[in-house]
Amino acid sequence: MANMETGSNPLSADLLVVGGSMSGITAAIEAAETGKDVILVEKEAYLGGRVAQMYHYFPKLCPPSCGLEINFRRMKDNRKVRMYTLSEVQNIEGTPGEFEVTVKKHPRYVNENCTCCGLCEPACDVERDNDFDFGMSKTKAIYLPHEMAFPMRYAVDIKALDGDISKLEEAAKVCPYDAVVLDDKEETLTFQVGAVVWATGWQPYDAHKIDNLNFGKYPNIITNMMMERLAAPNGPTKGKITRPSDGNEPKTVAFVQCAGSRDENYLPYCSGICCMASLKQTTYLRELYPDSQIHVFFIDARTPGRQEDFYVKIQEDDNVHIYRGKVAEIEDIGEGNLKVKAENTITGEMMEVEVDMVVLATGMEPNSRTSPPPNPKVQLDEYGFVAPGAEDIGVIGAGVAMRPQDVVASVQDGTYAAMKSIIAKARR
Ligand SMILES: Cc1cc2nc3c(=O)[nH]c(=O)nc-3n(C[C@H](O)[C@H](O)[C@H](O)COP(=O)(O)OP(=O)(O)OC[C@H]3O[C@@H](n4cnc5c(N)ncnc54)[C@H](O)[C@@H]3O)c2cc1C
Ligand code: SF4
Ligand code: SF4
Repeated sequence: MANMETGSNPLSADLLVVGGSMSGITAAIEAAETGKDVILVEKEAYLGGRVAQMYHYFPKLCPPSCGLEINFRRMKDNRKVRMYTLSEVQNIEGTPGEFEVTVKKHPRYVNENCTCCGLCEPACDVERDNDFDFGMSKTKAIYLPHEMAFPMRYAVDIKALDGDISKLEEAAKVCPYDAVVLDDKEETLTFQVGAVVWATGWQPYDAHKIDNLNFGKYPNIITNMMMERLAAPNGPTKGKITRPSDGNEPKTVAFVQCAGSRDENYLPYCSGICCMASLKQTTYLRELYPDSQIHVFFIDARTPGRQEDFYVKIQEDDNVHIYRGKVAEIEDIGEGNLKVKAENTITGEMMEVEVDMVVLATGMEPNSRTSPPPNPKVQLDEYGFVAPGAEDIGVIGAGVAMRPQDVVASVQDGTYAAMKSIIAKARR
């Protein structure tokens, strides 16, 4: 069967891909479809990465399922890809064509017998914050990561159980398929591989760090990724965008661009994507609430190429007000409402708008900054992205691990990484 998470050790493959979202999945499938053996290592319990968390994604504004499901099917049909979820690379040694990669595979405590019947959930009385929804919902400690998860299988959050798996004994007893494995163990696997693709993507910049914007202090200040989850039908509010404080529909919403970005104190660079993301999110609100008023505060709008057409279309909407303004402060004015104070970056004039909810357009921070490829020869740039020279030593960066970019560019990167690894192997 394709995609078995086997424990054979050592294993060899032509390519080992780290990160199972758009760029990593593309690299894995493209290489496998040319006949190469591929190992895909993903740290979460499911593939799909940040893309799986979106409501819609541009350019077509379709749900993530439309891109991800096709790729999951391609993976299921291809015996050349072996995937390891809940796994992380510990070490990469060797040279192009002859790498030895050590991977730590964390226990899932649920085996492939799981049918996702959900019968174990009522038998588990421990809850956890759902990180897929940025803490805006809860799941049981034994949980399905999300309804489109691949592999479609429950997992256990052992941290939520304070490390005590015996708290799941009742859940194991009620499982009709013997799928809960209480004695599941961590494994260390060693692979011999020809090349490594590093496609570990990004995490949202932590908005708590931005002093003047009061994220975490006032509940109706959310981030752009929280907005994606609120808008998603499989999100915490089943797609009804409501205020966290009282569940009311927001009639007026402000978007704060460059929240923590292009600022030496926080993220010095432009993430290149959050202008388009906010414009996209204005359409979520305008479709759901035709009378809503949207205020967008830009330093300048970065919508290159064909994205400019989308920007022009949004500007034509009389209920969307776009200002050139750097937000200086967000103040609570009672009953969950907020006052946004901004300075016009050209005239210096101050302006104020009162709104029901604020969305901070936070940027993308590379995961490679905090978890770099574990090989001393791989260099990161000043912001923590994998520096281009890494591919010369056989570790090929792809997607947002390399630079901030959208899904289309990340997919192109994945294809490039697959081709590069194939060429490198052919030359040996
Ligand atoms: C608010 C917002 C909205 C956006 N909307 C759009 C949009 O509409 N259209 C669009 O084209 N783009 C959009 N983007 C950008 C889009 O999210 C990225 O282009 C896309 O996620 C890049 O895919 P990736 O594979 O490079 O990384 P990711 O999607 O971040 O995936 C990385 C994968 O690697 C895994 N991983 C991380 N570290 C490790 C590790 N150490 N070991 C193993 N696995 C690891 C992660 O769990 C994840 O599965 C948006 C971005 C933001 C901030
Ligand atoms: S672990 Fe067992 S009870 Fe729980 S969802 Fe899977 S099959 Fe059902
Ligand atoms: S894409 Fe827009 S919001 Fe994001 S950092 Fe660049 S200019 Fe700021």
